[in-house]
Amino acid sequence: MDISVVIPLYNEEESLPELFAWIQRVMNEHHFSYEVIFVNDGSTDRSWEVIEKLAAQHEQAKGIKFRRNYGKSPALFCGFAKAQGDVVITMDADLQDSPDEIPELYRMITEDGYDLVSGYKKKRYDPLSKTLPTKLFNATARAVSGIKNLHDFNCGLKAYRKEVIKNIEVYGEMHRYIPYLAKNAGFAKIGEKVVQHQARKYGVTKFGLNRFVNGYLDLISLWFLSKFGVQPMHIFGFLGSLMFVLGFLAVVGVGAHKLYAMYNGLPYILVTDSPYFYLALTTMILGTQLFLAGFLGEMIARNSSERNQYQIEKEL
Ligand code: UDP
Ligand code: MG
Repeated sequence: MDISVVIPLYNEEESLPELFAWIQRVMNEHHFSYEVIFVNDGSTDRSWEVIEKLAAQHEQAKGIKFRRNYGKSPALFCGFAKAQGDVVITMDADLQDSPDEIPELYRMITEDGYDLVSGYKKKRYDPLSKTLPTKLFNATARAVSGIKNLHDFNCGLKAYRKEVIKNIEVYGEMHRYIPYLAKNAGFAKIGEKVVQHQARKYGVTKFGLNRFVNGYLDLISLWFLSKFGVQPMHIFGFLGSLMFVLGFLAVVGVGAHKLYAMYNGLPYILVTDSPYFYLALTTMILGTQLFLAGFLGEMIARNSSERNQYQIEKEL
């Protein structure tokens, strides 16, 4: 099979028939063999009935129904697990992404050799309250992930080589950072294609402004995991040791200062009356805590089922 289209959806009943017909038209024009996997993420409207009807009429239409609403990432995860095509395309169900982009995305993966191609909604039809924070979000994501050529990390329209989606694990709300996940898994050839973007035709957006707060926290987690996920001691141990040594030297300094004053007949105060003593003490305690966090982290990492999971590309 050439292409799997994975579509996560939550309450998008009006859009589905139109979207499927459009995909069908594009696929037939280009003679692709394909499947469309609708992942119904606990919709409370009639989305599932619509999907059932499509699946009954067309062998290419497939569906997964969640018992409740889990989120876009879990929906993508389950869609990816089911996908069989050589190239996997994800798109939003709300008709904001155009299926007309599929042939070119497919070509970029199969002929230009990209592992992942992300859509770039250069001209967006979204409110300013969304486009402005998005710019900031993408700049941060570029800097942290080191994927310098992506303008639009969170674009729902993306294409993947099959190996990519079978080897990464999207969870929580990490769908915003799939290119980063792919990069961490060793899929380095990541490209971008400017895509058409429409205003939402039916329904409403499913994400509020808290997407930016959560997105920012997720980015920090990912960065931390990719840097120190396997060996947390490398960061906590270092910081802890550094703080402890600084604190210790400061305590010695405070004591030495007092002894010097005593033996030279200068006025002196109790060590415990000096503010520096408490600063030094706090630093030492924090240092010990950080060191311990590192140790605990190492013990957790040691038990992680992923501690020896590597991406082996070829073997002879
Ligand atoms: N979506 C989903 N589960 C959710 C929220 C959203 O599957 O919990 C789907 C939604 O139906 C749509 C896609 O994810 O197909 C993108 O959502 P939306 O269009 O609301 O996001 P926006 O375009 O505003 O970023
Ligand atoms: Mg949308």
